[in-house]
Amino acid sequence: MSYIDYEVQDAIALITLNRPDRRNAQNQDFLEQLDAAWDKAAQDGTVRVILLKANGPHFSAGHDLTQDETNARTMAQTLGDIPNTGMLNLHNWEQRYYLGLSRKWRDIPKPSIAAVQGACIAGGLMLCWPCDLIIAADNAKFSDPVIRMGIGGVEYHGHTWEFGARKAKELLFTGRSIDAETACALGMVNRVVPLDGLVDAAMELAREIAQMHPHALAMAKRAVNQTLDIQGQQAALQACFDIHQLGHASAYAQSGQVILTGLQGMKDKQ
Ligand code: ZN
Repeated sequence: MSYIDYEVQDAIALITLNRPDRRNAQNQDFLEQLDAAWDKAAQDGTVRVILLKANGPHFSAGHDLTQDETNARTMAQTLGDIPNTGMLNLHNWEQRYYLGLSRKWRDIPKPSIAAVQGACIAGGLMLCWPCDLIIAADNAKFSDPVIRMGIGGVEYHGHTWEFGARKAKELLFTGRSIDAETACALGMVNRVVPLDGLVDAAMELAREIAQMHPHALAMAKRAVNQTLDIQGQQAALQACFDIHQLGHASAYAQSGQVILTGLQGMKDKQ
């Protein structure tokens, strides 16, 4: 099953999420294929800019909750963890596939642009936030409603950095979405364009950036990312990931299952 399309046009690597029938929900295969595409773009010397986009009406509905637990347990065994211990396995699995991959993509030394339309929910944020620039269609909506699962936020805590403290709290406390214009005003989105011009606008920007010197681009990216890191972003992301695991542990203690508290409520709201 191929969940990710990859092609290179005009020195731009186009990585396309291609699971539209499931609103680009992410399972382990999806994430592995996506990571392989990022690697390919990173290693191809002809690629100057990486453009991440999505087929279908929605960018990504987040993690594929129907497979989440199965994936965690299966992967934990291949990693050599103690089988069937629940939280420890899930913790390590999520460190590798969720936080680990998002951090890795964030630091690939080439400019990246995400083109986002429709819903971008919870784990969907973990695909676009690692990109350097975000172009949003006018119908894009961003949300992290995992509080309905008894957890304080998705695994990659970009919220406070992306929106500022008060808006981050509002988004997390209510589970409501933020529309493209609001996200742009808050600085999370670079620009908002009509839906039918989304990919063209992202490509135009990518072509402009692709004209610049690759090493200068890499250094510019490093300067900004290093500044965030000196401000504590990496340490905060890890700390918030561990808080997220506390949420899983708490939900597990209450329900006896890895991820179920409030799950139906979350699905209903999506
Ligand atoms: Zn989790």
